[in-house]
Amino acid sequence: MGFSTDAIHAGQIPDPVTGAVITPLYQTSTYAQDELGKHKGYEYGRTQNRTREALEANIAALEKGKYGIAFASGLAATHALMSLVKAGDHIVISNNVYGGTYRLFEQNMTNYGLEFSWIDTSDAANIENAIKENTKMIFVETPTNPMLVLTDLEKVAEISKKHNLISVCDNTFMSPYFQNPLTFGIDIVLHSTTKYLGGHSDVIGGIILTSSDEIHERIRYIQNAAGGIPSPFDCWLILRSTKTLAVRMKQHDENARAFADFLVKSGLAEKVIYPGLPEHPQHELAKKQMRGFGGMVSADFGSLERAKKVLNNVKVFTLAESLGGVESLICHPASMTHATVPKEEREKFGLTDSLVRFSVGIEDVEDLIGDVKRALI
Ligand SMILES: *Cc1c(COP(=O)(O)O)cnc(C)c1O
Repeated sequence: MGFSTDAIHAGQIPDPVTGAVITPLYQTSTYAQDELGKHKGYEYGRTQNRTREALEANIAALEKGKYGIAFASGLAATHALMSLVKAGDHIVISNNVYGGTYRLFEQNMTNYGLEFSWIDTSDAANIENAIKENTKMIFVETPTNPMLVLTDLEKVAEISKKHNLISVCDNTFMSPYFQNPLTFGIDIVLHSTTKYLGGHSDVIGGIILTSSDEIHERIRYIQNAAGGIPSPFDCWLILRSTKTLAVRMKQHDENARAFADFLVKSGLAEKVIYPGLPEHPQHELAKKQMRGFGGMVSADFGSLERAKKVLNNVKVFTLAESLGGVESLICHPASMTHATVPKEEREKFGLTDSLVRFSVGIEDVEDLIGDVKRALI
């Protein structure tokens, strides 16, 4: 089936009791058992929930995976991945991942005897060089936030297979509509469903997708054993959102292309970063592994004064953290999402005080362009 057909139908069957077309919200903590030792496959809400199962099967289909395992947040899903490694193991990871991923791994998981090498994975040679005797996992995020640097997924999968490692890709920025890491041989895809999959800035969630029976078994075990599950209502909301993922992503992409083009041509920004621009250093790789360029655009306005002018004067864009919703958001990575990264560290990869990140929504793009023009007058 095509993407949109799967988005609307996969994992969802009319309710066997009433025929309800929409998967009902199974807001229940427990299930009646027929007799001692005999039940319908549902015993307790943490372990099994129909609404959650529908969501998991739906996103698994969109990511071309066999299994989905849903969590209460993107970070709860990231944390669950740690059940695949143990004390003494080493993980090779992109140096510009989501700030919360960095905080969880470096400030907390290192207390459990795990070791991380933070490297620039956009160069595959760096990955090879970082692999040690005790390496068990490669974790990449592509494109990265907010610098939109890409990592070659085919190469990551190849290196991972050669050294018998587990490869993970955080695919939050592209969504399954534009990029399917499993099809390049990556073992695990991770999403913060809070972003494009949820798409309406009204729910926090996470999910892990895989086609490996063994990985599925271990992550499914920890979902129940540690219990970081999403509520049935949150699952229901995300399932409602994935139905429109294709139309939303097309519009995010179309708007972001026009918006990035405007920033370049107007000369209002000193530097514009968007994988869809031919001048993006990895534009060819973007065309190879993505089916579009997404809705995230970063721009350097040359000085903190000018960046502030944009951030404080826009009216259609909302100054806020997060991304991927239908409404456009604007943020200042240096003081907001990346405030915990030391200034010298972040300036090394171009994250200056004058950088502004736009999550381009699906409003009329003329209004978004007009908003930034007006803000800078
Ligand atoms: C937001 C985000 C996360 C964390 O997800 P939460 O749902 O906020 O826990 C992880 N990775 C990326 C790329 C994100 O943008």
